[in-house]
Amino acid sequence: MAKLSVLGSINVDHVMQVSAAPCGGQTIEAKHYQIVAGGKGANQAVAAAKLGADVAMIGCVGSDAIGEQMKRGLADVGINIDGITTIADENTGLAMIYVEDSGENRIGIWPGANGALTEAVLAEHQGTIEASELLLLQLETPIQTLVTAAKVAKSAGVKVVLNPAPAKALPEELLRHVDTITPNESEAELLTGIAINELSDAGLAANHLHSQFGIEMVLITLGKRGVWLSHKGEGMHIAGFTVDAVDTTAAGDTFNGGFVTALLEGKSALEAVRFGQAAAALSVTRMGAQSSIPTRSEALTLLL
Ligand code: ATP
Repeated sequence: MAKLSVLGSINVDHVMQVSAAPCGGQTIEAKHYQIVAGGKGANQAVAAAKLGADVAMIGCVGSDAIGEQMKRGLADVGINIDGITTIADENTGLAMIYVEDSGENRIGIWPGANGALTEAVLAEHQGTIEASELLLLQLETPIQTLVTAAKVAKSAGVKVVLNPAPAKALPEELLRHVDTITPNESEAELLTGIAINELSDAGLAANHLHSQFGIEMVLITLGKRGVWLSHKGEGMHIAGFTVDAVDTTAAGDTFNGGFVTALLEGKSALEAVRFGQAAAALSVTRMGAQSSIPTRSEALTLLL
């Protein structure tokens, strides 16, 4: 049985490279267009698998050709796909992504089959979660299913890591069943009401998440500024790697996949953050989501 269960979205990404994303009423011609595998769940599962973890994916695809293709892609990197359910008469989830020359991205999502990851579907794969050591969650699938999955994990002694992305308000019931949370700056602000400008703000937001919801470990990712790591209220800033970013799509996903992979290997939180940062820094130097995720040896080389 896999050590890591990833429950989340599986999407196909339509990616356009543009000078700048179109404003209202504007039509622009892209410089480049690609269809690639994506979805935060799948991206994080692929990141963890490429970076060395034993991964099982729980998710849904539509009954279309692209769904089969997405499943094959996950299996090709060694992910156990038995937990992926095909939903009849539904499309596989999709994202339309503009990547600007600056490296910034703008994304619109259609959940499709991801919206059908109900508690009934989860019940079929509960054993996968219970047999793993860590459950990794994001927010592109129905929230009530995440609450139940987190409860299943906690009662089985399985650690729960929540990447609360994309940003949305969350029920306390979910946050109370999370061991580690990994928001970026805007997600941290949405969850705490504290805008993250200075590093000290990250400390305040982390303390809020510790005290309000009993979350043991908080990692606030700060883009190229790195990560704020806070364990039971003891906080520290961990600077990131300096690289030339060309596309930040999936930086957070790569970071999360790398972080949990290292944690499962028994690394300290600090070492796990560094491993995640190395992998994420490499990913932003390349175009794409899953295709930009480095191999384990590339990440380890950057850490030397
Ligand atoms: P995204 O939504 O673009 O996938 P995110 O907003 O979830 O990302 P970020 O905080 O932007 O997450 O990035 C996650 C981690 O990736 C950062 O903590 C950092 O270690 C690394 N990273 C992101 N951008 C850069 C960059 N330009 N240079 C180096 N490292 C980066």
